[in-house]
Amino acid sequence: MIKYLVFDLDETLYPKDSGLMGAINERIRSYMVDKLGFDPATVEQIRRNYYLKYGTSLRGLMVEYGIDPEDYLAYVHDIPLEQYLSPDSRDLREALSHINLEKIIFTNASTEHALRILRFMGLEEFFSRIVDIRALGYICKPAPEAFVRFLDIIKAKGEECILVEDSLRNLRVAKDFGMTTVLVDGLRGGDECVDFVINNLAQIERVVKELLNAPP
Ligand SMILES: [Mg+2]
Repeated sequence: MIKYLVFDLDETLYPKDSGLMGAINERIRSYMVDKLGFDPATVEQIRRNYYLKYGTSLRGLMVEYGIDPEDYLAYVHDIPLEQYLSPDSRDLREALSHINLEKIIFTNASTEHALRILRFMGLEEFFSRIVDIRALGYICKPAPEAFVRFLDIIKAKGEECILVEDSLRNLRVAKDFGMTTVLVDGLRGGDECVDFVINNLAQIERVVKELLNAPP
């Protein structure tokens, strides 16, 4: 039985074309070049390798350079949200208010970053909890260990969760854990690990209705 509606944060709760993730990426790059002394010419290749090997730049820098994750998180999220996000989330608020499932954020970012975004968009009241990278012991999605920890923290089985994500590789792992998977990105399309594809997050209302009305 489905009990939890779980959302990724970045580029899921707000649109990919907002430019916010680009700004965060610029901060990550600046952290590596200006604070850690990486060569600007190779930093993107190193980040790409970290993404593939460790899931995120943060995890790569922790494993290979022993950096302080809290210093990193505070630095990379230091961005004026109002330059990128719209506070108008009426359609999404309407949709979430019609969904009778516990709603949870599951993110590779920090709780502070998640709360700033939720507050700016007027969505905070809908979410019962945020499981952030700190709660995950800095093990990030798509590592299976991150999903094990997440389910342990919320005390749920994978089958009880719907995961809404913009990242196909995260959804593939979610499927292995028995979650129902929703990809937010109509343009790219899903694959066999994706149960539903939506273009606009407010369409989640229709998906949940369909799932809850389906015969067992
Ligand atoms: Mg995302």
